[in-house]
Amino acid sequence: MTMEATERWDRWRRAMSSAADRHEATRSLDAIGHELGRMLERRSSLAREWSEVGVEVQTHRLGVSGMCVRGTRRVLVRRSDPLLRRRYTVAHEVAHLLLAHAQERAGLQLGWEFEERVCERFASNVLVPRRELAEYVSRCYPEPSVLWLREVARHFRASLSAVVIALSDLGLPGNAAFLLARVGGHPKRPHERGLRTAAAAAPSRFWVPRHQRLASMGFGSLAAWAQDAEPGETRAGVEPSCAISPGADAPRGTADWAGDVPYDAIVVSGANRLVAALDLSQIRRRRRPGRRIHQTASREGQLALTIG
Ligand SMILES: [Zn+2]
Repeated sequence: MTMEATERWDRWRRAMSSAADRHEATRSLDAIGHELGRMLERRSSLAREWSEVGVEVQTHRLGVSGMCVRGTRRVLVRRSDPLLRRRYTVAHEVAHLLLAHAQERAGLQLGWEFEERVCERFASNVLVPRRELAEYVSRCYPEPSVLWLREVARHFRASLSAVVIALSDLGLPGNAAFLLARVGGHPKRPHERGLRTAAAAAPSRFWVPRHQRLASMGFGSLAAWAQDAEPGETRAGVEPSCAISPGADAPRGTADWAGDVPYDAIVVSGANRLVAALDLSQIRRRRRPGRRIHQTASREGQLALTIG
């Protein structure tokens, strides 16, 4: 472990332990994730890759994909997992180590689901540096296919889930959109469980709401298939008349883009359940009824407009 790596880790530890609440902890973790993403050199040996940034990686026979030893910089990963999976696990567990510092000092209670989501995002920040991704997308135009997504994942040596989370930070060109979904409830209605969007990347004129049930956006048969299929299974199909909201910051319940959506999907394992590549080229803005303009001549001979 170099002196530089130790000093850097101490700086990160201080940043995390001075976080006063969830929001600050998440912001600090995001910043550390981006910094780590710029630094991490891709190596064929995981242990070497991470020891350069001050993290000790040990490979063991484990019943789970990974674990960390709180209060240290040590991460354990399952020997039988493929390299890409192990790489993701290390980044994810490093986030748990950093969050542990925030919890020690400020006594933050994050809750399991929230912490897992934050760790996933951190792993995506680390493995798929956003600037590099933007360059990649400008060179390789996004296609609405899982194959395209796989190429990106291979390039960054990251999982499909990490890539979709990273793409969701970019406004994509064209008509390709990507969806990551998991089974769960809405934060305000946790009992209403279903396959819901965990992350979505789309062109900026479309907006795919988070936590929305896929079935309520019109992706009923896609959701039903993904619930039953085994990890690794793929499917291509068309969902008739899906509804997606307009604009980058559209509030919920304002969908007025509708049309048929061809998709290409794969069931993934882990916390997430589904990655789907959508072709939004059939989606058109719906015509709002009742906004016809009538022209009528008034008694004085001037033209009056009424909007009905
Ligand atoms: Zn975790």
